[in-house]
Amino acid sequence: MEFTFERYGALLDELTSAGYAFTGYERSLADGEAILRHDVDWSPEKACRMAEIEADRGVTATYFVLVTSPFYNVHFGEIRDCLHRIESLGHTVALHFSTHQYWDAEPPGEELRRRVDEEQSVLGTVTREMGDAVAFHIPPSWTLDRSFDGITSAYEPRFFSEIAYRADSGQRWRDEHPFDGGIPDRLQLLTHPGLWGETDASFEARLREQEGQRFDATREFLASEFLGEGSA
Ligand SMILES: [Zn+2]
Repeated sequence: MEFTFERYGALLDELTSAGYAFTGYERSLADGEAILRHDVDWSPEKACRMAEIEADRGVTATYFVLVTSPFYNVHFGEIRDCLHRIESLGHTVALHFSTHQYWDAEPPGEELRRRVDEEQSVLGTVTREMGDAVAFHIPPSWTLDRSFDGITSAYEPRFFSEIAYRADSGQRWRDEHPFDGGIPDRLQLLTHPGLWGETDASFEARLREQEGQRFDATREFLASEFLGEGSA
């Protein structure tokens, strides 16, 4: 499949016509329920666009955002507006947590909880009602298919190994459709908004595109705040 917003919309249409009800991480899924998950690694702007495509179809999703990304800052006005827009369209914003910022190997459970709590309090200040669930970014194997005390993880068995889990990582759906084996009873579908666009582009081209946009935004920021007339 092509990685265009139009194709993403068509994928949603396949799911809605299969009769799925869309839900979150509040409880285990029943048959016929699906969770739409987005890991926002690079582009809150594209996340916003996907949120609109979903809202047009009356579908809700959970958007996991980083507070440790060098690409975007959730407190920056435009990004904050994006997150508010996503929430106002009926979706949930929750924490995308990068263990890689803190540890090379599994930390004591208490330390993990403390860091997750800290980052959730940061994100909680810019969301209206932050979702409780946490999705680990580039998940190390010690985070997969297990539960943690005091944390609702998107990789818990009930959301991961006990149901169908399909992810667009590395644009792998380019050659294989996520529902080639038939539409599953219960589903968590993960997409990364940054991999999609108005027109199709390869994984590598998308990353370059993100890089270019961030450079431009940084350049504009420097120009308007420090190089403009009247700056002191
Ligand atoms: Zn990620």
